[in-house]
Amino acid sequence: MKYFIKTFGCQQNKADSERVSSAFKARGMKPARGYKDADYVVINTCMIRESAENRVYGLVNNLGKLKSASQSLKIVVTGCMVGLAFRDKTGKYLQKIRKVMPEVDEFMPIEEVGFDNQPIRQDRENAWVPISNGCNNFCTFCVVPYTRGREISRPFEDILAECLHLKIKGYKNITLLGQNVNSYGADLILPSSVIPNEVRDLTPAKSEGKITYFEPVHPQGGHAQKVKNFKPVYVKHLGRYRIPTLFPQLLEEVAKLGFEKVNFMSSNPWDFSEELIDVIARNKNITRLIHLPIQSGDDNVLRRMNRWYTRDQYLTLIAKLKNKIENIKISTDIIVGFCGETDQEFQNTVNLVKLIGYEKAYISEYSMRPMTAATKTLLDDIPQKVKKQRWEILEALINKSHLVKAY
Ligand code: SF4
Repeated sequence: MKYFIKTFGCQQNKADSERVSSAFKARGMKPARGYKDADYVVINTCMIRESAENRVYGLVNNLGKLKSASQSLKIVVTGCMVGLAFRDKTGKYLQKIRKVMPEVDEFMPIEEVGFDNQPIRQDRENAWVPISNGCNNFCTFCVVPYTRGREISRPFEDILAECLHLKIKGYKNITLLGQNVNSYGADLILPSSVIPNEVRDLTPAKSEGKITYFEPVHPQGGHAQKVKNFKPVYVKHLGRYRIPTLFPQLLEEVAKLGFEKVNFMSSNPWDFSEELIDVIARNKNITRLIHLPIQSGDDNVLRRMNRWYTRDQYLTLIAKLKNKIENIKISTDIIVGFCGETDQEFQNTVNLVKLIGYEKAYISEYSMRPMTAATKTLLDDIPQKVKKQRWEILEALINKSHLVKAY
């Protein structure tokens, strides 16, 4: 029996597919070269934009034709669409995807694969290591908290053991992955009921009783060895302590393993602590290209998006990064045409982009996503034509600088 995996979406999905591959091998199957060669096709889905979801429907439809020709073909769907279907308590989304894709034999939650399966990696130099899954932030446009659920961090020592193993196998570059990578560890320190999904005061003093000082195990020479207790870093945002995190310590321990390059993504501006900046500054093998999603350069739009920083706070953070880390470059994510985005609000994003001089940006036109607050409470009122124009302006400005003069 052979299996073929088609992955849509982000690097986290690609990393998940490496573990899905391992799970299918464990069932005694071999990888197929393509759809036609496979007994099982696994589709790892993405829902971040409507277009990504539509591509899945198109593929399943085409596979249905292949299935009519070969009765033995099984279609398995996993990833974000299934995550949302199983978290939607009304059951409506599961009904919808069952109706739109009757060809599917199994909807498999990605959680069923787990982290016990060692990923089967195609790349021999670059490895992606998920450190957490899910998100607690509930940006109003984003479906991730519904597709992947609340943030769960992998144990510190498991991540270090996996990284050490990769180093021994000769991997040169490593990327630590999480939807909100720099809040890693909050759930290892505090019970999830205490972790806020809004900005509220959580001072170290107030939560002292709840802190379990963490004792990571550092694998050295194949032997587990306790090295030290890490005191969590409390991320301060808008003058308040938000969450405790272990990300600065984890990043530094991974960097010390001696990879040529250590990357991480995606980080959130409001969880970017001073300690994290210091760790990057003193470890030269940590990336100098920091991905820091801004989404909009206008304060009103940021508020409607439930993004907890202002344009000025973001600029202050960039200034700190540039001040402390030599040759730093910044990339970002931007959404154009978000609900009610006026010409002036968009212009504020254009002005900010010019000010910062991003190395690269992933720009997307806003589309409504199921279950999100924006879909429930805001109007998707920017015409498609305007969204496209705004996308083109930013794309030319950031990603194809030779076209900038046209604007
Ligand atoms: S931080 Fe916001 S945009 Fe990022 S995954 Fe979480 S909810 Fe989505």
